[in-house]
Order: sequence, then structure tokens, then C-alpha cells
Amino acid sequence: MEDIMFSANAGRSHAVLSVASHRRDAEQFTGEGIPSAQQPDPTEYFGCNVFDDKTMRRYLPKAAYQSLRTTIDLGHRLDPAVADVVANAMKSWAMERGADHYTHVFYPLTGLTAEKHDSFLDPDGKGGAIAQFSGSALVQGEADGSSFPSGGLRSTFEARGYTAWDVTSPAYLMESPAGMVLCIPTVFLSWTGIALDKKTPVLRSNQALSQQAARVLRLFNVESSVPISSNGGLEQEYFLIDGAFVSARPDLLIAGRALYGARPPKGQEFEDQYYGVIPSRVLAFMADVERQLYRLGVPVKTRHNEVAPSQYEIAPSYESGNLACDHNQLVMTVLRKTARRHGMSCLLHEKPFDCINGSGKHLNYSIGSPEVGNLFAPGDNPHENAQFLVFLCAVIRGLHRHAGFLRAVVSSASNDRRLGANEAPPAIMSLFLGDQLTDILEQFRAGQVTRSRGKRLMNVGVDTLPPLPADPGDRNRTSPFAFVGNRFEFRTLGSSMSAADALVVLNAMMAESLDFAATFLENEVQGKKQGLGAAVQKLIETVMEEDGCIIFNGNGYTEIWQREAARRGLPNYPATPDAAQVYLSPDVIELCEKYHIFSRQELKARHDIQLEQYIKTLHTECSLAIRMARTQIYPAAVRYRQELASSINVCEAAGISAGKKPLQELSAHMHGFEEALQALEEAAENINWNADEDGLIQCAQTCQHVIIPATDALRAWADKLESMVADDLWPLPSYQEILFMK
Ligand code: ADP
Ligand code: MG
Repeated sequence: MEDIMFSANAGRSHAVLSVASHRRDAEQFTGEGIPSAQQPDPTEYFGCNVFDDKTMRRYLPKAAYQSLRTTIDLGHRLDPAVADVVANAMKSWAMERGADHYTHVFYPLTGLTAEKHDSFLDPDGKGGAIAQFSGSALVQGEADGSSFPSGGLRSTFEARGYTAWDVTSPAYLMESPAGMVLCIPTVFLSWTGIALDKKTPVLRSNQALSQQAARVLRLFNVESSVPISSNGGLEQEYFLIDGAFVSARPDLLIAGRALYGARPPKGQEFEDQYYGVIPSRVLAFMADVERQLYRLGVPVKTRHNEVAPSQYEIAPSYESGNLACDHNQLVMTVLRKTARRHGMSCLLHEKPFDCINGSGKHLNYSIGSPEVGNLFAPGDNPHENAQFLVFLCAVIRGLHRHAGFLRAVVSSASNDRRLGANEAPPAIMSLFLGDQLTDILEQFRAGQVTRSRGKRLMNVGVDTLPPLPADPGDRNRTSPFAFVGNRFEFRTLGSSMSAADALVVLNAMMAESLDFAATFLENEVQGKKQGLGAAVQKLIETVMEEDGCIIFNGNGYTEIWQREAARRGLPNYPATPDAAQVYLSPDVIELCEKYHIFSRQELKARHDIQLEQYIKTLHTECSLAIRMARTQIYPAAVRYRQELASSINVCEAAGISAGKKPLQELSAHMHGFEEALQALEEAAENINWNADEDGLIQCAQTCQHVIIPATDALRAWADKLESMVADDLWPLPSYQEILFMK
């Protein structure tokens, strides 16, 4: 151990040794020190840290409970008198469980989770303290938002915004070694009512969706006494590696991804990792994560190895979209926190390691309510199927019209590195429906349904619709947006992103298309006095004619699709600077203003913030790449060159001939490396990193077209050096160490 402290790669050697010592005791490791067999029954503690229905019943007087319940279920306004009672009950519950602070949790436009803690304690004026929590403190809080990005929505003199309780997302207790904190999910607004967060638009879009869905349902004589809601099931991918490697790699520490690293001799090509046996240390971590999430009422369900080495997935059962987004934020927080406790690091970056798969987040999306069921599920009879087809048409139409918007909200510097990399969905939005369903829709477009693929004959007209396929069968993994039997799976979301934006766009496009469908059907039925069946038939024809080109069941990874998509006029925004423009397009502004989801100003802010974040990310990566190149990689190469050169000298002095080829090759590579480094330094100097509002797009485009290629070129040289320089001189833990040691 002592020797390595003086060696050229002390940090790396130390990391490797410490991981190796972990490995020995991994077998006994169960995270909380309790063998899993003795763990308490999760059904008993599930949700124990949530102020859920059961707790509400226990702690609230009946009238207050009923009032709060109505507020939650029907979205009514909360009675201020009830708020006081609820706050008091929440405080008692929280303090009994050991909490002494509360916080309004909100979701600023960074995509992260923000909180400011306040104590329950107030001085009693007699030298003591009393615990207090009023209804107004529960319902509304002030938050100084000046250090959150606001895209010009708040100038500093009105830096304060306010947070307001979202009653539909239950309060919970977050555990930490420092104690419990009562967390209240909130929206974050400016005093003039401008949304400064990711949650507000989710709630707004849900309302729009609910109204329009109800209109369509009414045509089918279906009424719902509770609002129709979007539902979301979020599959979360992540990398889990030993924390020691992160400490030894500034890039992983600061940028969350490896800026350098030669391809390991073994990557994911053996396909031996996906669904493989989970290593015991990782399993201990997962079990720990799951127990915490159970206590927080997050219904985690699935865990498995992913395709790349050291890559995993966690997925909860689906919930209302709003709650699913909040819970996903909790999942990310708990993953990160727990990894640290286990001496590991959870990387949520979309592409931490080149040449192996990146990480995404799949949003499984459906709409419905307990009363009306899942509106994306094909039914058992023609009537239900006609209704299903109307909702399906809304998806087809909505996605076709707002593909660019959906693409825009999932773009970031990190997700750009993942999308379209032949492992992740392409940046072009399309809809996979499966051959059977597509075939039926195509026949509608042709004006008559005559057959179901090679099977039996069908009569024309919706009233005698055949049973629809409940499952498209083939699970096309290359599609960004796939029908999977009773829901749509949107796969373009990046692993580190908040799922809220994508949910908002899906809700918004559905609201608009359901509005269109409802109006279309109402006119057809009322005006021409024809049956609903015939009206639906006509709707399908129209939608398939105008928007059917969004359907694509083939392989989305191929070049042919790129060309075909262009021929169909589908938008293709390869990178963030291209995609961000969509926020300001007339279509998007019209959509968002019409359904009160975003004002023009709010859209502009989001556009600006997306570009700002993009620029900041690339600035950080570029500075870091330069720093590591100058202070770690170049010195290692210089030392090795010295070693090679002196060995040649020594040999020649002794009269032995020594080959010069390795030295020549190394020198040539070092030369290439130096040039690339200089080019990046110059490019970085010539860019105005602090561009103002008007210069943002140009700065972002320079990043895209100059900085990224220059950083990648430098990396290519560095990676070649890594496979030439003596291993004991190389300072950075290698891919193979990071990905295969745990
Ligand atoms: P796969 O990897 O095959 O996509 P997973 O089990 O990993 O399947 O994830 C499926 C996700 O879809 C889960 O989060 C699940 O709860 C969710 N889901 C299932 N049914 C629905 C639905 N009707 N609406 C929304 N999400 C759903
Ligand atoms: Mg999955």
C-alpha cells in the first residue's frame, strides 16, 4: 500500500485495491447489516413514511378527512380552515416518527429536486420553544428562487417565488442520519403566477386532458365522476460502480461521464449481462433502495441487469402521471444517496461510457380512471373497441403533429450522446403499432375493413368491429414510441431527466387531439344524424389520411428509415440546439396557450434554459477535458516517452541494438494529441460562454459544431495513448476496472 502512494497512478491503484478488498466481504453484505431472511415483511411497512389515506383517517377528524379527500379526488380547492387541521395532524404524525423539520419540495427547471428545511420549533417568548405548523405554512411557502434558472421569468428584484402544496401528491418523511424531515410536494410559481417549475404544467396539462377525454367519453355514454388522468410507469436505468473509481476520475466526479477511456477488451458484446445474475453487492444495494422506497410508498416492482456491464434497471408499478413523476424524482434521490452509503456511485448520466449502451428512462403512458378503466386497452366488444380506436386516433394525430415538441423536451447535451447511437431510440419520433393493428387501420383508411391479416372476414363499419389484438406481439425495441398492448411506451427520455416534461407534452397533444375528435364526432353525429359507428369510421379515415405517416413498424436504427422519415416529412432534430427551436414554433405556442399549459413567456423561458444548460454542460466538459489532458494524460505520456528513450540510450551504451519503433509511434501519437489539445483550447477561448439571451442559440450551435467535435477528437488521441503507455503510469482507472470490478 505504501509504495503506491508514490507511484504515478496512486489514485487509480488505490481505487483498485480498495475495490478488491470490498469484494471479499461482499457476500455477507446486506446493506443494513440484517440478512434478508430476517427483514420485516414489506407489506407491513410499505408507505409507513407517507401521510397516506390510512394515516389521514387515523390522524384527522372525520369532517376534515372528508374535505381533504374531496380535494384530492376531485381537484377542489382546499378549505383554509381544513388546512390548519391537516397541518396540525401532519405535524403530530411527523414528530411522533422523529421529524423536527419540514420542507416544501419543488422541482425547478434544472430537472432536479429542491428543498429548503424549516424547523417546527418557534420560540415561546419565555426562553423555551413550541412546535408549530400552521395551515398556511403547509399550503404555501416562500422560496427565494434567484439561484434557480428562470430564463428571464423573474428579474432579481422580484427573486422570490412561492411554493404551494400539491394535495394530489402525499406528504412523506425523508429519512437521513440527521433525522426525519416532513416533505411536502409543491408547485413553484412566481408571484404573478408564472410556472417556475416542472410540476405546475403537469397539473395544468392533466386538467386539459381530463376535460377533453370526458367529452369523447360522453359521446359513448360513458360518464366519470372523477377526473380522467394520465398514468405513468417509469422504468429507470442506471449505472452502479464503485465510488473509489469516481474519486480517481475527475470526469466521472464532475461531469458524470467518462470523457476519456479506451474501449475495454470485453464490453457488452457477449450479451451475457442482460437479465444475468445480479452480483451480491449490487443486490444488497438494490434491496436497500427498495426498502427505503417501500417506506416512502413508491411501489417498486422490477429490478434487473441491463445490457451494458454495471448497468441496471428499477421500475415501479404505474401510478397517476403526476405521482409517478414525483416518485421517479424520489427514486433518483434514493439511488444516489444509497449508492454513497454502500461505497458506490450511481451514475444517472445518459451516456457515461462510450462504446457501451447509455441509460434511458421509459415512460409507460396511459389514460383513464378507476371508473372508466384504461382508455388505451382494446375492449371485449365492438362498442368498446370503437371508443379505443378514437383514443388511438388521438395518439396518432397528436404524435404526428407534435413529434417535434416531444423531441424537444427530451433533448440535452447528455441525451444527445445517447439518442440514435444504435442502441437507443432514434431522434426521429415515430409510432410503433404492430402489424395487426396497423393493418386494420390501413383498411379503415381504404374505407372498408374486409379482413384481419390472413384470418377471417370482417364486416364494414365500426359497429361490427372485430376483436382487436390486445398485444402487438413483436416488441420493437428500436421505436421511440411503441404501443405495448394497453399503453404506450415512450423511450426517448434520458435517464437523468425529470419525466414531467414528456408527460406534459403527451397530455397536451392528447388534449388537443381529443378535442379535435370530440368536435369531429359531435358534428358528424348531430349534423348528419348518422350513427356514432359511421362517424368513428370517418374519423379514422381522416386521421389515417392526414397523420398515419407517423406509424412505422420497421427498424428505427437503419439509415433507410432516416431517408424514409424525411420523405414522410417527419422532423429530425439530431441535437439540442436544433430541437430547442421547437419551443418557439407557432404550433407549440398555439397548443400550449389554447390549453393553458404554458404561456408564450413560459415557453421562451424553457427554450432559453435548455440552451443555457446545454452550453454549461459543454463548457464544463470542455474545461475538464483540457484540464485532464494537460495534467494527467500528457504527463503520463511524457513519462513513458522518457522511459522508452532512456531505455534506448542504455541499450545503445551497452552495445545492444534497441528497436525505436515504439518510441516513434508514441511520439507521433503524442504529437497528434498535442495538436488536438491545442485546437480545443483555442476553440474554447474563442467562444463567448456567457452569451446573453440573444446569443444563446449561436453559442449552442458553436458548441455543437466546434466544441463537441474538438473534444471528441482529443479523446480519440487520448484513448490511443491509453493503449500505448505503460499501464503503471496511466493515472485514470480503465473502463475494464470501472465496469467489471465490484
Ligand atoms: P418492460 O421492460 O417489458 O417494458 P417493465 O415491467 O420493466 O416492462 O415496465 C413496465 C412498466 O409499465 C411498469 O412500470 C408498469 O407499471 C407500467 N405499466 C403497466 N401498465 C401500465 C398502464 N396501463 N399505464 C401506464 N403504465 C403501465
Ligand atoms: Mg424494461
